[in-house]
Amino acid sequence: MNLDTHSFPNDPNRPRGRPRVVIIGGGFGGVSAAKALAGAPLDITLIDRTNHHLFQPLLYQVASAVLPSSDITRPIRRMLRGQANVRVLLGTVVGIDPAQRVVQVDGGAESRHPYDYLIVSAGLVHDYFGHDEWARLAPGLKSVADAEEIRRRFLLAFEEAERTPDIDAHNEFLTFVVIGGGATGVELAGILPATARAAMRDDFRRVDVADTRVILLEGGPRILPAFNPVLSQKAELYLGGLGVEVRTNTKVTRVEPDAVWAGGERIATRNVFWAAGMRASPLGAMLGVPLNGRGQVLVEPDLTIPGHPEVYVIGDLAALRWDETRWIPQLAPFANQAGRWSAANIVRTIEGRSREPFRYFDKGMLATVGRHKAVGELRGVRFSGYVAWWAWLLIHILYLAGFRNRLSVMLEWLWGYFTMDHGSRLITSPVPVTEDSAAAVPLASAGEPASLRSSERTRLRRESLPK
Ligand SMILES: Cc1cc2nc3c(=O)[nH]c(=O)nc-3n(C[C@H](O)[C@H](O)[C@H](O)COP(=O)(O)OP(=O)(O)OC[C@H]3O[C@@H](n4cnc5c(N)ncnc54)[C@H](O)[C@@H]3O)c2cc1C
Repeated sequence: MNLDTHSFPNDPNRPRGRPRVVIIGGGFGGVSAAKALAGAPLDITLIDRTNHHLFQPLLYQVASAVLPSSDITRPIRRMLRGQANVRVLLGTVVGIDPAQRVVQVDGGAESRHPYDYLIVSAGLVHDYFGHDEWARLAPGLKSVADAEEIRRRFLLAFEEAERTPDIDAHNEFLTFVVIGGGATGVELAGILPATARAAMRDDFRRVDVADTRVILLEGGPRILPAFNPVLSQKAELYLGGLGVEVRTNTKVTRVEPDAVWAGGERIATRNVFWAAGMRASPLGAMLGVPLNGRGQVLVEPDLTIPGHPEVYVIGDLAALRWDETRWIPQLAPFANQAGRWSAANIVRTIEGRSREPFRYFDKGMLATVGRHKAVGELRGVRFSGYVAWWAWLLIHILYLAGFRNRLSVMLEWLWGYFTMDHGSRLITSPVPVTEDSAAAVPLASAGEPASLRSSERTRLRRESLPK
């Protein structure tokens, strides 16, 4: 049977000739838009290159082995299965032709998707500022695959430290460098030592998890630049309490397999994580309209693009002024609200009404530091410490997709809170085999005790640090 591109095999009674909406992206913006169009007389195709919606705010908890990735993801198909006017397709969009009103998907039989209305919510990608070669050495945190790779490296570092007979290598394995002092960098830098010391205590014989060293590098004058300076200071104080070394005004100039060069200094480490930069998905540039310096689409006040009132760009990919001095922050609330707003504007259009300019409702900002502290601000009101952490916890539970995920995360956090035990310490790919592993001489046979005392290791590590 030769199916017309817009026939739904599941719905033979589908009315013909309804306007077609293509949504690119099943993240916050795309799913909100699709849900807001429930019941509308439209045929919607939502395309994503992954099969799951991802709750990115909790990615750092997957990266640090606190939560399993299944707790913060949900199949997009499952989220929209009750909505008869939506069809979900797995595929990577490789082209958009606004003149022909067609979206091109990579490979497969059904690769061309004509539309009457298009909503693009494809988000951001990592930006290594012209050093793409760093990506291999310093993975960033944006997808499930990224988080699982960071988790693998984090857990493997302790395993390698336990095995290595070389004290310098031992110290390098226990040194973690996080590049970028925005919310992602701060959350990651705070959770790594907290998790290591709480969940891995007593697990090793030669590794003392108290020796875990985390360095947070920030090129600008303060961490959390999007927050009030008072909260930046608070966060730095909290990180200091966790033993995290925060270095501001420190630009990274080189990343090597066993070192990072920053501020003219060589930091010996085997673990580097990237939280320094993001830029827009390349799909934005395919629309042929003005972009900002990060490749985000400068959208009209009603979220459409210049010259194409049928094309909406929303979420992280869109740049829209909040007021004369500020841009709307690239946060989940903007993507959610813009998704619903673009849907409402499409409905207004098909009903013959005019589109309305987007109005942003500020829901504030929060960032956690370690296991039980956070900083946050909402419309000029600042809060921090335990209170902010509770607010963070409740909000994240509330906004997680799916009751199963909410329950599971709550149980996981409760269990971790009382037992300090986290259930996601999985290294799922084989441990790399090094050529010199056969030649390595064990510490014990070199006349040293099998278990180095912590103080001794710390002394040796300090001596190995660059002066
Ligand atoms: C680590 C991290 C922590 C964060 N923490 C917070 C927080 O605490 N609070 C907060 O409010 N915000 C937070 N954010 C930001 C928030 O997640 C984003 O603002 C939000 O996800 C933006 O939604 P979106 O729909 O624009 O993009 P996304 O949610 O990124 O969704 C984009 C979707 O498009 C798909 N896609 C991309 N390219 C293609 C293509 N070519 N073909 C098909 N599909 C494609 C992707 O697979 C993805 O599903 C965080 C982000 C990160 C990375």
